[in-house]
Amino acid sequence: MLSGVKPTGRPHIGNYFGAMKQFVDLQSDFDEVFVFIADYHAMTSDTKKLLIGQNSIELALDYLAIGLDPEKVILFRQSSVPQVTELSWIFSCLVTMPYLMRAHAFKDAEAKKKEVNVGTFNYPVLMSADILIQDADIVPVGNDQKQHLEIAREIARKFNTQYGMIFKEPQEKILEETETVIGIDGQKMSKSYGNTIPLFATDEETEKIIMSVPMDSKGIDEKKNPDDYNLYKIAKLFTNENQDKEIRSMFENGGVGYAEIKKYVANVINNYLKEMRERRKELENNRDYVLEILEKGGKIARERAEKKMEEVRVKCGLNAE
Ligand code: AMP
Repeated sequence: MLSGVKPTGRPHIGNYFGAMKQFVDLQSDFDEVFVFIADYHAMTSDTKKLLIGQNSIELALDYLAIGLDPEKVILFRQSSVPQVTELSWIFSCLVTMPYLMRAHAFKDAEAKKKEVNVGTFNYPVLMSADILIQDADIVPVGNDQKQHLEIAREIARKFNTQYGMIFKEPQEKILEETETVIGIDGQKMSKSYGNTIPLFATDEETEKIIMSVPMDSKGIDEKKNPDDYNLYKIAKLFTNENQDKEIRSMFENGGVGYAEIKKYVANVINNYLKEMRERRKELENNRDYVLEILEKGGKIARERAEKKMEEVRVKCGLNAE
């Protein structure tokens, strides 16, 4: 199993329920589990060197705080495996421009008339290299990555046909209930939309964000359908059966103001995240331990990738004498 997250700032509950929680839940189910910090990918949108480096360490803290076990998981920075850029180049020569122009991320950027750098355009190719170089079978992700996995399979097939069988075709693992977590405005939760609830916010910050979730102008006593509200959809990620009943009844019976419902929801969220937030605080004082884990993981991932690249270079005929 292999997956990664970009170190572009604080991860949010969409990253958590879409992808990161899966990493934790699956970490004992595979012989080998690779989880990386996608710092090369972050460079497509963020070129400030200090930020990417610092954010990478922050993300490593997040990974450990949510419960990834460094005894089970190989945790590493993508840039510890420069072989992926070499493989990405070889793959770039196999895929066509029109094919990559159909990728969502590029189409979205173009539609917004953003100036797209070549890195953004090539993003799916680098991601294919990340996955295929480690022979991953399963890649747990959110729904927005589905197309990238299709591209990875297509690239594996192309390489295998052109140069000989060497790459496995990986499968995405997407959880239906949380494939696209919505933000406080009802759109997909995303850092670029400014609608996120950070996983490691303080209780106060979380409450403030929940209090700002837009509602409607229905009167206190009106009966409401909770399923119509983004607040309820977000709360549902965190509630147990009793808490869910309680929130539903506040909407359905009427008589409870939105501020009160929101306070209840913020409390449920903060309780759910309490333990991992505390664990992160403890880890913050132990950065050397975190750096050690990254270095060890980087070495394993790099050596494995280099082995694969030796095969790739032979298949491509690059080493002919
Ligand atoms: P990124 O921050 O783009 O590196 O995303 C890391 C992981 O989080 C990827 O697997 C995404 O598919 C997943 N993800 C990001 N936003 C959401 C969301 N709103 N709902 C579900 N999964 C998401």
